[in-house]
Amino acid sequence: MTLDLAGYAKQHGIKYFMISYTDLFGGQRAKLVPAQAISGMQAEGAGFAGFATWLDMTPAHPDLFALPDASSVIQLPWKKDVAWVAADCMMDGKLVAQAPRNVLKALVTEATAMGKRVKTGVEAEFFLVTADGSAISDSFDTAEKPCYDQQAVMRRYDVIAEICDYMLELGWGPYQNDHEDANGQFEMNWEFDDALITADRHSFFKFMVKSVAEKHGLKATFMPKPFKGLTGNGCHCHISVWDAGGKVNVFADKTADFGLSAEGRHFLGGIMAHASALAAITNPTVNSYKRINAPRTTSGATWSPNTVTWTGNNRTHMVRVPGPGRFELRLPDGAVNPYLLQAVIIAAGLNGLKSKADPGPHYDIDMYAEGHLVKNVPRLPLNLLDALREYDADQRLKDAMGTEFSAAFLKLKHNEWNAYASHFTEWERQTTLDI
Ligand code: ADP
Ligand code: MG
Ligand code: MG
Ligand code: MG
Ligand code: MG
Repeated sequence: MTLDLAGYAKQHGIKYFMISYTDLFGGQRAKLVPAQAISGMQAEGAGFAGFATWLDMTPAHPDLFALPDASSVIQLPWKKDVAWVAADCMMDGKLVAQAPRNVLKALVTEATAMGKRVKTGVEAEFFLVTADGSAISDSFDTAEKPCYDQQAVMRRYDVIAEICDYMLELGWGPYQNDHEDANGQFEMNWEFDDALITADRHSFFKFMVKSVAEKHGLKATFMPKPFKGLTGNGCHCHISVWDAGGKVNVFADKTADFGLSAEGRHFLGGIMAHASALAAITNPTVNSYKRINAPRTTSGATWSPNTVTWTGNNRTHMVRVPGPGRFELRLPDGAVNPYLLQAVIIAAGLNGLKSKADPGPHYDIDMYAEGHLVKNVPRLPLNLLDALREYDADQRLKDAMGTEFSAAFLKLKHNEWNAYASHFTEWERQTTLDI
């Protein structure tokens, strides 16, 4: 039975609902609706002008309605008067096909029809920077190898513990927080769940981290490579597939290589086959390509992949199988759209299951040091344009993500690339002035 949001408001003392949808660029768009008006909004949706956000619409389009999915409602732990609720975009009484949460829901439905439940956990790394975004906020945080820096994590205890307390309160099962591999960088982990739940939590996590950082006079950024020479913000995703009841992990097979069942290998095979194309989704900005394919950072390693390769418990490849019954996709970065991340994993993985794809050989070597020794492994796209072209050329993936979505995404992202390409840079002046 659908939760009645008006009743929820009475029970929890909610004064305002934040009806929120996510556009194609990952932006969260919301209307603050007084609890008194929520019944009508729950039935009809909150109205928006779609063109004003990244959805590939024109100013002439009719109203966009964001219909709250009451099952996703979360009372803001730092502002109890307000509840956030994820919404599904509708127009003329129909779901908007290219809206990211709708894209994901369609793929979850397809997985369900195949008797599968995809469960995932994300590691959304971020930096705490000064309010203007220009520098790391902690001037003491200068170690060459700052990963797990005990002193530095304690200097940001007020921010990190506040966020973790909220995750505990929300029942997400948070289990560890650390200072990551770059100065000013942090990671906070909570338990995996069904892909749609993880996508909603991932969205809310970004909103929460930014909000709490701002409360403390700081700024949080998930930008893939905010500082040259420092490790970037990854958003690794751990993936397993379960039976319809969600009790049996169908990726797990103790007797198989790496504890990964035949179905696990096929799903992984789909990810490997579509990797260069799905990078357009998992690494969706110009800046994303300064994190992958990057030169060694000051800490000693980028921790991000350069090649479409997989292995066991070894962090130098695109895919790591850290233990039985799951694998880790290390490609996505902090700019990834939480809904499209899950959607593209399911799209590629289901294609792999259907075609019984083979993930190919595993290379159990230090890819950073010995990568040059392996021949014929595909390199990841070197820039956003290459990735967009790979995506455009991958008809099966485009179809699996939905033709309307794929057309809208490619159009908006090509526009972004063109805006970047026409941007006049100091680098070209320096290198071309004396030619
Ligand atoms: P690491 O840094 O070693 O890659 P983390 O502990 O930071 O790993 O993150 C691991 C993520 O994977 C967590 O969100 C965790 O809940 C999730 N996870 C663990 N087991 C599974 C599984 N079987 N399926 C999907 N996700 C999983
Ligand atoms: Mg108006
Ligand atoms: Mg981690
Ligand atoms: Mg990490
Ligand atoms: Mg990881």
